[in-house]
Amino acid sequence: MHALVEPVVAWFDEHARDLPWRAPGRTAWGVLVSEVMLQQTPVARVEPVWRAWMQRWPTAADLAAAGPDDVLRAWGRLGYPRRALRLQECARTVVEHHGGELPADEAALLALPGIGTYTAAAVTAFARGRRSVVVDTNVRRVLARALEGRALPDPHLSAAELRRAGDVVPDDDATAARWNAAVMELGALVCTARAPRCGACPVATTCRWRLAGMPADELAHRRRRQAWQGTDRQARGALMAALRDAPGPLPAATLARAWPDDAQRARALTSLVVDGLAVVDDGAGGAVRLPGGAA
Ligand code: SF4
Repeated sequence: MHALVEPVVAWFDEHARDLPWRAPGRTAWGVLVSEVMLQQTPVARVEPVWRAWMQRWPTAADLAAAGPDDVLRAWGRLGYPRRALRLQECARTVVEHHGGELPADEAALLALPGIGTYTAAAVTAFARGRRSVVVDTNVRRVLARALEGRALPDPHLSAAELRRAGDVVPDDDATAARWNAAVMELGALVCTARAPRCGACPVATTCRWRLAGMPADELAHRRRRQAWQGTDRQARGALMAALRDAPGPLPAATLARAWPDDAQRARALTSLVVDGLAVVDDGAGGAVRLPGGAA
C-alpha cells in the first residue's frame, strides 16, 4: 500500500466532518445530488440546500416529476444553475432506463447526462464503497504537494496525473473508498490552497513540498483569476435571482431593475434562454420567466 494511505485514513477516522450525505441512511441518489452540488460550491452553502432538496425530492423519480421552475428555485444561490437542469435530466434517464435506481456500474454512471469522470468515480466510492480514482482540486493539491513537491498542480488534469493518482489508490474496495474520502477531506480542511495547516497534517514529515521549504507556485502567472464583479456571469446571477424570487413572469421593465446595463442584460438574458434557464414570452410583451413556470 502507498505510504500516504495509512496516515491519511487514520487522520480521517478522527477528523471527518459529520455531513448528511455521509450518514448511514444516505442513498446513492443522495450522494450523487451532493456531488453535483459540491462541484463548484462550498460545503457550508450546499448543506442546507441539500437537506431541503432531499426532503422534497428524495428519489430520482421525485425529481424527474418536478417542474423545472421549482427545481431552479430550490437550487437557489448555489450557482451554475445549469447543473440543476442536468441533474433533473439525469433523474429522468435513471427513471426511464434504470427503473429509478442509480446504476451501480461506474461506466453506466458515466453514460448518464451531466455525469462526468469525477462524479462517476465519487459516487462509485462514496455511495457504493467500491474502488475508483476520485480526483478533484483538493486531491490534486495534496498529491502535488506531498508527492511532487509542488505548490499546486497543473491548471488542467492530464492523463499522466490521473494515472499517478490511481497508483496511490489501494486495491481493495473498502480501503480505496476510504482513501478517496480521506485525501479529499485533508485537502479541504488542512492542505488548503492558501494557508495549509502543516502542523495538523498527518503526512507532514514526508511531504515533499514542505521538506523543500514550500517553493513558490511556478505556474502562478498562468493561472486564471476568475473575476466576478461586473461580469456577464454576475449579470446572469442577478437575472436568475430576480426570476427565482418572482411568483410568475417578470415584465421586461422589472427585469431591468435587476441589472440596469441594457447591453449586458440583453447578453445575459440571451445566454440564459440558450441554456434553457429562462423563457421569453413573445405574447406577453416580452415578459421573462423560469422554464416550466406558468406563462
Ligand atoms: Fe499539505 Fe502541509 Fe500536509 Fe504537505 S505537510 S500535505 S503542504 S498540509
